[in-house]
Amino acid sequence: MKTYCVGLALLTMCFNLSFGKIKNGYALYVDDARESLKALQALLYETAEVSNAQRKLAEARIKTLVNYISYFELTEDLLIQFRLVAPDLYNEIDSIKDHQGRSTDVFVKFIAPEQAKVQAWGITNISFVPEDPDMYKSEYGNGTVSVKIWIVSRALLVLAHEFGHIKYQVPNLVSYKEYYENTYRPGVVEPNWIGHDYEDLSGRSADVYAKRFIKEYSYCLKNGSVRPQSPVALREVIRKRIYELLVKNRVLATSQLQEVHVPSDRI
Ligand SMILES: [Zn+2]
Repeated sequence: MKTYCVGLALLTMCFNLSFGKIKNGYALYVDDARESLKALQALLYETAEVSNAQRKLAEARIKTLVNYISYFELTEDLLIQFRLVAPDLYNEIDSIKDHQGRSTDVFVKFIAPEQAKVQAWGITNISFVPEDPDMYKSEYGNGTVSVKIWIVSRALLVLAHEFGHIKYQVPNLVSYKEYYENTYRPGVVEPNWIGHDYEDLSGRSADVYAKRFIKEYSYCLKNGSVRPQSPVALREVIRKRIYELLVKNRVLATSQLQEVHVPSDRI
């Protein structure tokens, strides 16, 4: 797969989290998004006079909020699917600890390819806390890893691959970061090769995880215990459901605002 890791993400937010877990990367603001939808409902239907300009602004805002909530729900669904297909892999990352035995949170977001800043199906950040180099750091704060996966038909396999990187990198952060910086010099190494040099143990771990996932997935398909849904189709189902709920609750008069936006399937 043409997935690779990006170096040194910009770190803009800090959260202190004490329990290591796989977490939905959209969860931090989903309550705010739902509250904002309620406020817009009040504006559109409980205010005596709403100008056309106000209505247009409110509807544009609703579209943005629905997108955010639908990505949150999609990520929830896909994480559940992953756990059903490959519970062992899931639990290994859900309980992962750093070199000093401290729990590390792994924040996962499934994103549209056009939202990606790096053209890779999956991205895991690599960075550490300067005063505590054994501790991972991402835009979610100290003791966290950030993973972003494109919404494509094999998104769960891409997630398994990135989990493999994490499995190696979190407990070996200091030595791996040194190896990474010496091996993948910016502008010298072909971007798609980053994270997958012949001797890269993180890359090997990613390959092992992907193979384990494929095995579990095949087993599930054979015995019919799990029927994973296409992430691309699932996203549209979720978005449609949210819009229909908004129409039902009179937040919107029509579901015409819904965007039909299915990314091309590149796998
Ligand atoms: Zn990789």
